[in-house]
Amino acid sequence: MWSQVDAGHGCPISMTYAAIPALRANPELAAAYEPLLTTSAYDPGLRAPLTKRGLIAGMSMTEKQGGSDVRANTTTAVAQPDGSYAITGHKWFTSAPMSDLFLTLAQTPAGVTCFFVPRVLPDGTRNSFALQRLKNKLGNHSNASSEVEYDGTVGWAVGEEGQGVKTIVEMVNLTRLDCVLGSATGMRTGVAQAAHHAAHRRAFGATLNEQPLMGNVLADLAVEAEAATMAGLWLADLTDAATAGDERAALLRRLSLAVTKYHVCKRGPVHAAEALECLGGNGYIEDSRMPRLYREAPLMSIWEGSGNVAALDTLRAIGRQPETLGVFLDEVKQAAGTDARLDEAVADLEKQFGAMDLSDGAGLQYGARRLIGTMARVLQGSLLVRYGHPAVADAFAVSRLAGDHGDVFGTLPAGLDIRAIVERATPKVG
Ligand SMILES: Cc1cc2nc3c(=O)[nH]c(=O)nc-3n(C[C@H](O)[C@H](O)[C@H](O)COP(=O)(O)OP(=O)(O)OC[C@H]3O[C@@H](n4cnc5c(N)ncnc54)[C@H](O)[C@@H]3O)c2cc1C
Repeated sequence: MWSQVDAGHGCPISMTYAAIPALRANPELAAAYEPLLTTSAYDPGLRAPLTKRGLIAGMSMTEKQGGSDVRANTTTAVAQPDGSYAITGHKWFTSAPMSDLFLTLAQTPAGVTCFFVPRVLPDGTRNSFALQRLKNKLGNHSNASSEVEYDGTVGWAVGEEGQGVKTIVEMVNLTRLDCVLGSATGMRTGVAQAAHHAAHRRAFGATLNEQPLMGNVLADLAVEAEAATMAGLWLADLTDAATAGDERAALLRRLSLAVTKYHVCKRGPVHAAEALECLGGNGYIEDSRMPRLYREAPLMSIWEGSGNVAALDTLRAIGRQPETLGVFLDEVKQAAGTDARLDEAVADLEKQFGAMDLSDGAGLQYGARRLIGTMARVLQGSLLVRYGHPAVADAFAVSRLAGDHGDVFGTLPAGLDIRAIVERATPKVG
């Protein structure tokens, strides 16, 4: 609901809460800063962090030569006699540069390490943090992203030296969840705008939503949006359970987050394009807000691990922790016997895993998108069959699981309760 109003500021808000589990790798810093990061007070301005009413946090990982591959980072951190580090190097992407503090990756002799870097030092002097340029982005304009030069910048280690990736992944896992929620929100916004427009716009003697072909488009968009929302909220619940110490939830989340980040975020841009077209020429005009949605959509799939990286992360989870796959299959089978199309899709998926040659790394990577797309649809189908609206679950199962679907939105087969699906997606305006 929040992101429907403005997606851009979700970035700093997401990074602020996501920083907490990573920061806890340094209990002393966490004890001092956590209360200010978790407060809902926004206190803008560059002042000593502990003198402020509330703080926001960013992350500074990406370098020119090291985006997905952060181990290629060349920024260095040199230990100082007082326990701090002097950090020197260039960061190619750092969003929300007005943040009070950043979790920054830099190399120590032990390898990539995570650092706590405040913009203003505890004594009130400015830390060295030179904003060289703001990015001229495709969209996401309400959130500044910058290039930053670190020059002897003061930071404190968070977690052990050489364990930076392991430490910051605690943060990235939460921001990845928000990418899924962000994509689901974008879809919900798009279909709500499209359904509203179609409910009031007349062409050829009837409102658009009464015309069968437009009904198919709107329903197909709505099914995708509901599946994305269901997966996103289920993942959020799983995250809470995992954080509370539920081991099964932690294993399930490990694999499902990578699968869903890949699939839901990949579906965002095509969904936005189709939703925009439902408004006709008006959808191409800025005032309709559809162009903003369209420009925002690819971003969810790029940052926090782009499509291929999320797909490779899925393979890594299965390779390193095969038990994650067992838990995943067990979860999607919770709906067994409810829908034959789901049962068949689960059986097919199991067959694919059975035939998989785990020693063929190149072959696995080559086919990863196809496999993970199937995993995602099976997961969404299982969730919709259990918890979703029957008409939506039915449309999802026949189109996304049984494959009765064309190559674009608006290609659902006959025999579905299109009216009920579109009705659910249409905002009730008083
Ligand atoms: C608007 C915006 C804001 C951002 N904000 C931040 C921020 O605040 N902090 C921060 O640290 N970073 C930020 N980023 C950076 C972002 O996280 C990276 O751009 C992203 O991780 C990809 O890294 P890269 O750009 O170096 O691309 P690359 O790593 O060069 O990847 C290019 C392409 O190759 C693919 N690829 C990479 N490795 C493989 C492989 N092994 N096999 C197959 N394909 C592969 C990727 O999926 C991608 O499609 C931001 C990016 C954007 C666009």
